[in-house]
Amino acid sequence: MTYFLDFDRTLLDFDGYLGHLLTVPAFSQFHADIRAYRDRVLPRPEVLALSVAIDEWYAHGGYQFSPGELVAHIYPDVLPFLSVHGNETYIVTSGGVEISYHQGRIECTGLHTLVRDVLYVRGRDEGKGPVIQQHTENADFVFVDDKESQLDSVAEFFPTAKCYHIARAEHSHRSDRYPVIASLTELP
Ligand SMILES: [Mg+2]
Repeated sequence: MTYFLDFDRTLLDFDGYLGHLLTVPAFSQFHADIRAYRDRVLPRPEVLALSVAIDEWYAHGGYQFSPGELVAHIYPDVLPFLSVHGNETYIVTSGGVEISYHQGRIECTGLHTLVRDVLYVRGRDEGKGPVIQQHTENADFVFVDDKESQLDSVAEFFPTAKCYHIARAEHSHRSDRYPVIASLTELP
């Protein structure tokens, strides 16, 4: 089986990650907004502005993640899953226009060395369906994401793919249109 797995809130505990950024002095200019975002009180337009600002700042040398820096925030089922399925797994992540921030976050976890490839989707709201289509013609794969809009994007291009909504936390939204899992251990 081939697996296409989202990164944030699928492999990486994103709230834990935000908590980590609050301890990094280099990010201090963003700390007030990161705290509000983590606490879910930052208005949507400011969330977008924050992600664009960090994306550009990082790309222009604002910070560089160190090897291993984010390993503690990888969900505990991820390494066991990749030790079995890594050869048939792609990470597919969407983010800012600059890829370097997302690349830095993923590569400092070392997960890119445990999978077949990492696919980057430019632009936070771009769908993952077209990018996956560039890598496979075989619709017999599993796709996992915490965003229903991304499940819709992939299901549109691959109606027979097995799309799973991952809900990692108690309070996470649970799809009523896709099968919901809480852990990669539940995948076929
Ligand atoms: Mg995600």
